[in-house]
Amino acid sequence: MYLLSVRHLSKAFPQGERTFYALSNIDLAFPERGLFAIVGKSGSGKSTLLNLLSRLDKPSAGYIRFKGEDIFSPSFKKHYAANVFQHYQLLDKMSSFDNVAMALKILGRHGIRKKTNEALRKVGLDRLKEKNVDVLSGGEKQRVAIARAIVSDPEILFADEPTGALDENNAETVMKILSQEGKRRLVILVTHNEEYVHRYCDGYVRLKGGKIVERKIPIKKAKESKSTKAGHGLGWRKTFLWRNLKGNFAKNLICLFAGILGFSALLLSLGFYSGQGKALEKQKRRSLLYQTSYLYEQDRFEVENSPLSLLRQIRPSMQTALDLTEGIKGLTFETDYSFFFPGSLSFKLDEVSQDPVRFAPVYDLTLKEGGGDLLIQGKLPRANTMGECLVNEEFISFYQGEVGDLIEVSNIASIEKDGAKEDIILDFEMKISGVVKEFSFLNSPRVYYSYQALESQLQSYPLDNIGIAGLIRPRLGDFLSLLSPSSSYLNYRYLVFAHDPSEMEKVYDLIRRYEDDRNYGFENETYTVASSFEALSSTFMSALAMMVGLAAGSLAIILAMMAFSTYVKKKKEVAILYVLGAKQEDMTLIYAGEASFICFLSALGALLVSIPLQGFANRFLEGRFGMDKMIEIPYTELFGVPYLLIALTLVGAVVFGLLVASIPLVFSHHISLAEVLRDE
Ligand code: ADP
Ligand code: MG
Repeated sequence: MYLLSVRHLSKAFPQGERTFYALSNIDLAFPERGLFAIVGKSGSGKSTLLNLLSRLDKPSAGYIRFKGEDIFSPSFKKHYAANVFQHYQLLDKMSSFDNVAMALKILGRHGIRKKTNEALRKVGLDRLKEKNVDVLSGGEKQRVAIARAIVSDPEILFADEPTGALDENNAETVMKILSQEGKRRLVILVTHNEEYVHRYCDGYVRLKGGKIVERKIPIKKAKESKSTKAGHGLGWRKTFLWRNLKGNFAKNLICLFAGILGFSALLLSLGFYSGQGKALEKQKRRSLLYQTSYLYEQDRFEVENSPLSLLRQIRPSMQTALDLTEGIKGLTFETDYSFFFPGSLSFKLDEVSQDPVRFAPVYDLTLKEGGGDLLIQGKLPRANTMGECLVNEEFISFYQGEVGDLIEVSNIASIEKDGAKEDIILDFEMKISGVVKEFSFLNSPRVYYSYQALESQLQSYPLDNIGIAGLIRPRLGDFLSLLSPSSSYLNYRYLVFAHDPSEMEKVYDLIRRYEDDRNYGFENETYTVASSFEALSSTFMSALAMMVGLAAGSLAIILAMMAFSTYVKKKKEVAILYVLGAKQEDMTLIYAGEASFICFLSALGALLVSIPLQGFANRFLEGRFGMDKMIEIPYTELFGVPYLLIALTLVGAVVFGLLVASIPLVFSHHISLAEVLRDE
């Protein structure tokens, strides 16, 4: 069995319409050791043959066998050969030592230091081993290349015009080294120099136009000997990863910024998703009106000869009210006095008449039922009195008022009984006792007064003109108690105050249930506002999800492009590493690893940057909506798992980077090594 045998080997290159045969029907065999030359004129096919023998290129027909095994069969995994090129093809910016050692590292060999030193000594370069290869002379570079080729102790050494770029002295040195190597292994050399062939070589083949025209190769059969399997090193990939990271510093920095922005957007969106619901729940309570609801019955009049019907809100009976709200504790049903004291009134502040403002009833202005934490200025009234009120922040900023200011309210309402008329004159001053900060979404300036105080004032209001049988001096309360519930004096509906904040969810459930009811209505202003906010924020979240998708998409494109451009720029380096025995997975790890590492740093940066960003965003949103902590990135716990978010973000970033950047690298195995490493 020959060490290397070639049968019917052809290599065709497409050339316009026709195919050009650079090699046709070559049969050859080489023994186990010796230095053999391939000679011939330029263009005769020497390099093409060598590229096929060393698996840098694939044949069009025929086969090449190493110890009987087809070297192009997918199961052939041996590291059987090493190459020396005319133009050295060293890894730049690395020392001679590292260049040589890399060949061992890629193959996962041991004893790297010893073997490397030995190889460098063989080529007479041990004194220059720490020198960067970029500063070496041509002869020295070629000796490094030879050391790199022989350090892994391959069974075959291929050298394509290794002396082509060297002066005579250096060329002689290289030939001597190769002839020494020929005593140990098979060395196949391409050369122009016939004199070297005679002086150093054990045999030769002459090519002409892609055919063998002369051969002189003594045939000795090979003994079964060692066959080295390509191993699997790990650490050496780091070297190239790090080189790429450093080499692409500016580009990587830009990617890093893009990545930080992208990941921050992701984290903030997640924070908004998890934070706004909780914030809204809390803010529903940050409104003095959240405990005030309205309950009414719909009174329907069919209009004759018309498809229309008219609706009127009337007060249901107390029994109906109790039935409707069954199961909710702590409710009181009160008369809505808006006939006498409408929700919207003009008033005077600092002697100046103002536009109508909303006056809203609060059952108990001393806020014994909670809500005291809303106060941001002044104090709460100590008792329920019409003499004091609370206003919201919007009121203060809109009317330039301040704590202690007097709000003058005057209103006249008339009632009639049996032709007698009575004017109910409500004329009083309310002092701004305190300012509350509340859920400010869709909120307007508002004055909160005590419902209890208004009720007792109205109930005891003396009537002078209207007589009621059996009473000497009747009061408004006596008059009202005689009226039917649907009387327009009593307005149309019940004011329902919920005194137990823990029952509010049930109240809101009830409101939800009666939303589309034809017969009864149950409303709450805070609920209405919160629902519209919910609708708004769910729309906003869909938009946000889309934007995060776009951010992730563009980040993916940037990273993929980055990986690909590095890869293209480093094509030669990639080819060298392949020739030294690196695998597709190694390349993916090196080039996608760069993107992955940038992603990791971006995620780390985003985790840090998102903390202050969340603060800024929350302050901004609080200004707009009066809600704090609308964004709450769940750093410490996600789905009940501690620090899951941090772990997911970092791991996810690494995987994302690897996946995205390896897409373009999948195409990398289409590059032809022979093409890239072709000696110009
Ligand atoms: P040399 O003997 O000078 O090393 P080569 O083996 O490089 O010659 O080339 C042999 C012939 O094949 C030349 O005519 C060259 O132009 C042609 N050839 C080599 N590589 C290619 C290629 N990739 N595409 C087309 N023609 C090629
Ligand atoms: Mg050539």
